[in-house]
Amino acid sequence: MSELWSEWRSQLPQAFLLLCYAYGLFVVTWPVFLLLERWRPAGGQTPRANVRFNWTIVASNLLLTPAFYALAVAASTVFGRAVGLPAFAYPVLGVSIGQPVIDGAVQGVLLFFTSCLLGDVWYYWWHRLQHVIPALWEIHKLHHADENLNATTIYRSHFFELAGQAVMRGFSVGLVFDLSGQTETLLAIFMAGLLPPVWDFFIHANLRIDRLRFLLPVLSTPQFHWIHHSKLPQHQDKNFAIWLPLFDLVFGSYYRPAVDEYPPTGLSSGERIETLWEAQAGPFLGWWRMLRGGTEVRSDGSLNRANPKEKQ
Ligand SMILES: [Zn+2]
Ligand SMILES: [Zn+2]
Repeated sequence: MSELWSEWRSQLPQAFLLLCYAYGLFVVTWPVFLLLERWRPAGGQTPRANVRFNWTIVASNLLLTPAFYALAVAASTVFGRAVGLPAFAYPVLGVSIGQPVIDGAVQGVLLFFTSCLLGDVWYYWWHRLQHVIPALWEIHKLHHADENLNATTIYRSHFFELAGQAVMRGFSVGLVFDLSGQTETLLAIFMAGLLPPVWDFFIHANLRIDRLRFLLPVLSTPQFHWIHHSKLPQHQDKNFAIWLPLFDLVFGSYYRPAVDEYPPTGLSSGERIETLWEAQAGPFLGWWRMLRGGTEVRSDGSLNRANPKEKQ
């Protein structure tokens, strides 16, 4: 237990910095998305109260997310040590032809594509499980409860969700490459961690640019992800990928929207999440309801009997 505690304390500052990086990136790019959303909104203009609520959730996650993320990493590290998991990560610096500038570029590209490909396929399945397993849906539904989809929806998430995503995506690069102590590749790591999050913000924007349709099904677009947030039955469990819709195509969940298809977003049950208490305590209350109602988490994706058809 003391090993877990000291590991948690050593992971905490790193976890906090990681979140500050993600939030900082959003803060500096948000004005661009605001302008785009005013220029060509896909739905109506986003109500201010909606944006304010999403930012309140962001603020509440500032401490909760690093604390839980550090716990998840510390627990996996302690567990890994206890069972003697071998370290097989490949050093990024091993990819070298002896020309520092070219090496940096190649390493950056390598990290970038590893992060996108592996990160997205892992995230695809994690995301899909969140939709079919009622206990996980309790965590994810806060993100889907936004009836005015906009760029700030990206961080309208429960702190379990953000920490889970960071673990899933961190693994995608960290499992393959040893990134420790490699100051030379800092720029490459920075680039690999820069573009994918900005694309995440972009696909959540309340934005209609029909010309982007040519990107499908290779690269996601705001309309592709809008469908994922739809309330309508025909859009349920579609378009899970964040960056690469090809995974939806391969795994049978791809939905190509028609030109004017911008359905209403939110929870199809009509349930609303409007207070910080409902947002952060929601999963705990949901699990409690499930336990009391005897609802089981079943691997075939059956829904919570207490709230059938609740998923988007
Ligand atoms: Zn989802
Ligand atoms: Zn989303």
